[in-house]
Amino acid sequence: VHPTSARRPDYITVQSENTVYTPDHITSKFFNRGADVIVSDGQFTVTPTSKPYEFQTTRKVGKTGLMMIGLGGNNGSTLCATILANKHQISWHTKDGIQQPNYIGSVLRASTVRLGSDPATGKEVHVPISDVLPMVHPDDLVLGGWDISGIPMDQAMKRARVLEYDLQRQVAPHMAALGSPLPSIYYPDFIAANQEARADNVVPGADKQAHLEHIRADIRRFKKDNALDRVIVFWTANTERYSDIIPGVNDTADNVLAAIKNSHSEVSPSTLFAVAAILEGEPFVNGAPQNTFVPGVIALSEREKSFIGGDDLKSGQTKLKSVLAEFLVNAGIKPLSIASYNHLGNNDGHNLSAEPQFKSKEISKSSVVDDMVDANRLLYKPPQPGAKGKAAKGEHPDHIVVIKYVPAVGDSKRAIDEYYSEIFCGGRQTINIFNECEDSLLATPLILDLTILTELLTRVKYRAAAETGEQKDFAPLYPVLSLLSYMCKAPLVKPGTDVVNSLGRQRNALESFLKACIGLEGSSDLLLETRIW
Ligand code: NAD
Repeated sequence: VHPTSARRPDYITVQSENTVYTPDHITSKFFNRGADVIVSDGQFTVTPTSKPYEFQTTRKVGKTGLMMIGLGGNNGSTLCATILANKHQISWHTKDGIQQPNYIGSVLRASTVRLGSDPATGKEVHVPISDVLPMVHPDDLVLGGWDISGIPMDQAMKRARVLEYDLQRQVAPHMAALGSPLPSIYYPDFIAANQEARADNVVPGADKQAHLEHIRADIRRFKKDNALDRVIVFWTANTERYSDIIPGVNDTADNVLAAIKNSHSEVSPSTLFAVAAILEGEPFVNGAPQNTFVPGVIALSEREKSFIGGDDLKSGQTKLKSVLAEFLVNAGIKPLSIASYNHLGNNDGHNLSAEPQFKSKEISKSSVVDDMVDANRLLYKPPQPGAKGKAAKGEHPDHIVVIKYVPAVGDSKRAIDEYYSEIFCGGRQTINIFNECEDSLLATPLILDLTILTELLTRVKYRAAAETGEQKDFAPLYPVLSLLSYMCKAPLVKPGTDVVNSLGRQRNALESFLKACIGLEGSSDLLLETRIW
């Protein structure tokens, strides 16, 4: 069995008064350490803070379903086929030999964390990140969902032209057993006109309230028929255009619900699915860039205490950018411009060749360097008081994103990036990157990670540890799951809080959180013992 496919019972035991194991729960105490900083007249006054919390994680992983919107697309069909290949241990012939199925590219199934070191040897001990807390195994996910294209899943896989023929050949009967996607909601105005020919599997009518109820019933039926404890609803359908934010329509929870009742034209299919999932109390994740989460949807998720996360999968170019831009700025080097070109030939590229859909992608790809620039005002001038428009951001590198549709290259996306920077005493540095790979094989492990992590986060509760007085009950986490940021191009965060784009910081947050849930503090790279006598 390939190591990334192995399924292991929870076997890490933390021996500490801060960690308590019962048959149902792991409960841990954790000190959230930070600092309050008061800035006045150029003086910084810093007060270290430390607030105790307790986390309680339910140990039993429930039976979990994944309902994808866009099931018959490249990502949807590739994810199903690769899970089935893993589950049925199908290996296949390639020109290089025999290929085994695996979960490479999934941070949760194929990466490790450092637990500490062996006291006898001083050597560091690493474990699979999936062993830190009980998590659903991808092979155990029950798969289903919707698509406006009704072709059965074995044919959808063939249409996608992502997987090797010998794998397709063997996995086809398992894919055929999944049947066809459920009919979906299609409002032509939201995706490119070039998608119309696919739309042969749609829920009839134009009554958005009836559509909402239809989708809610689909979720409920899928849950019941498969005896599921949890369903993750995941948008991996075409990128939609942005919805206009209109006061009275999508700005509050009640207004969004009323807009659906009135079949308002600015309610997109993705928003409708998000509302359906929220009202069913099942998590909704948006893997595409459009503004599904209009303010009213975020407010509804808060009111219903129902989890949401997104936006847009951070797979190739942007993932690298969230590493490289931080590396440059943290090295004290000043990027002056970042120019990013992409071309791809799959259906996603076809849809993005229309201007309004490209716009959604451009926005989601553009903000990724903002927080790194903001954090270093030695290199970039801060905004002048009262500055408006672009100037309100302060000095910023020039940043452009271009995407072109080139059918011949199919799913093999090519991304070309130039980082042009100022270095020591007026010098210049140019870094060019050429990144080529199957788009869907980068994206599908992220869908898995988002699903697995979301399911886990529904089982983690917290409370402020009582220093004195009565103990509060454990409560679920805040519904916008910003811990999903690592896998998202434009992370959705709690309104009013800062977005962190840096991949390194996003991973640290995830690792620290998982460790906190078993009572281990931080992921300290201080390694003091290696630096003192
Ligand atoms: P795709 O075009 O192959 O698949 C999308 C599917 O969605 C199609 O089968 C289409 O018929 C279906 N669809 C469209 N509107 C629908 C609706 N209202 N309801 C149900 N189904 C609908 O695209 P893909 O390559 O699988 O990518 C899916 C999404 O993920 C895109 O929005 C893309 O931008 C996003 N994404 C992909 C990557 C990647 O690397 N592949 C990275 C980031 C984001």
